[in-house]
Amino acid sequence: MAVHERSRQLQQRAEKLFPGGVNSPVRGFRSVGGEPPFVARAEGAYLYDADGNRYIDYFGSWGPMILGHAFPPVVEAIERAARNSASFGASTGAEGDLGELVQACYPGIEKMRFVSSGTEATMSAIRVARAATGRKRIIKFEGCYHGHSDGLLVKAGSGVATLGIPGSAGVPEEVASLTLALPFNDLDAVVEAFEQYPGEIAAVILEPVVGNAGCIPPGEGYLDGLRKLTSRHGALFIVDEVMTGFRLALGGVIELYGIDADLVTLGKIIGGGLPCGLFGGKREFMDLLAPLGPVYQAGTLSGNPLAMAAGIATVGYLREHAVEVYPKLEETSKAVAEGVAAEAANAGIAIMTNRVGAMWTWFFGDSAVTNYSEAARSDTAAFAAFHRSMLESGVWLPPSQFEAAFLGTAHGQVEIEATIAAARAAFAAVTA
Ligand code: PMP
Repeated sequence: MAVHERSRQLQQRAEKLFPGGVNSPVRGFRSVGGEPPFVARAEGAYLYDADGNRYIDYFGSWGPMILGHAFPPVVEAIERAARNSASFGASTGAEGDLGELVQACYPGIEKMRFVSSGTEATMSAIRVARAATGRKRIIKFEGCYHGHSDGLLVKAGSGVATLGIPGSAGVPEEVASLTLALPFNDLDAVVEAFEQYPGEIAAVILEPVVGNAGCIPPGEGYLDGLRKLTSRHGALFIVDEVMTGFRLALGGVIELYGIDADLVTLGKIIGGGLPCGLFGGKREFMDLLAPLGPVYQAGTLSGNPLAMAAGIATVGYLREHAVEVYPKLEETSKAVAEGVAAEAANAGIAIMTNRVGAMWTWFFGDSAVTNYSEAARSDTAAFAAFHRSMLESGVWLPPSQFEAAFLGTAHGQVEIEATIAAARAAFAAVTA
């Protein structure tokens, strides 16, 4: 058994300082049990904990570390930028450099604004949509997570789903009631909502491939159907690519499925591991922002030079090497996702694998998962046992059934084989 003494001590101190011992809920391992290792450092595909144990990383800081940890060009870019001071609170050329790179990957983003998190990106996009339409209501989908702003915490995914909190305490009823949470992959539900609230819906926001209820791909024609419905009813179509952007393709789901969005939100990879987000899209909407227009939105650290440097190094590398990177991510992810699923099948354990590129979930159950209520039927106790066994074997999966696993370009054959071997042992332990 691996030693976890130092992590245990750090956890005890953390519990005195931080609610639940953490600064973001899912890190607490509440739904899978066991003790969360404290990370000391990471390199490539591996995390090293405070006791020196090594893990293959399948959450990649929840998405950003697509090029692997401490990727030299990113480290060098941050070091170089830091020598010129960490922040100015004034405009820099780096913002335009990253902005042009983003535009090259997302040609539909005519104008954009940098923020410091995905939460800010979606919150601000919603504000723009309400200003543009003069309407109050928004439609989101059950199990989709768009950060922790008040109006978006209704029937959300990620830690909200993991901890079983359908609507957060502290969000006023008046605010929550403006958010309609509908089942994902159900166009009829959206048609009905537009009929029920004519002229009242400002926007439809979604994760175009859901990651925060576990991985759930959109059904045939679903995204296109939403685009048509929003256009017909004068609502904005907001595609939240905080998780999928630069991961499922260089131009995210917008490119992969060829969709047209009014506003797009980005985060995670765009900051190369530093705090960064972005919202952008059609000029007519983005020009409503102050100082041009009446929608206020701002940030002391928006466009922060270290975040810009890490983002330029990351997105720049992805763009330059896209023809190698994305096929490799697909190949490695397929090998891991299908290899583990085959081990489950051999052991007679029912698992449904949902995967789009380097993003997937093994749902513990035997029926298809196309929306949140189907995901919620998964055997979370079986997932928890699997998670604990994998961790003990040196494979760190996202610690919830309702989160997608990720990998990056640093994962290769060695990691594929080690992961499948760990899964074989985990499933054998369950059936023994
Ligand atoms: N949108 C999506 C799709 C996300 O996955 C997340 C974070 N997991 C967010 C928004 C919120 O981003 P952040 O945690 O940076 O606030």
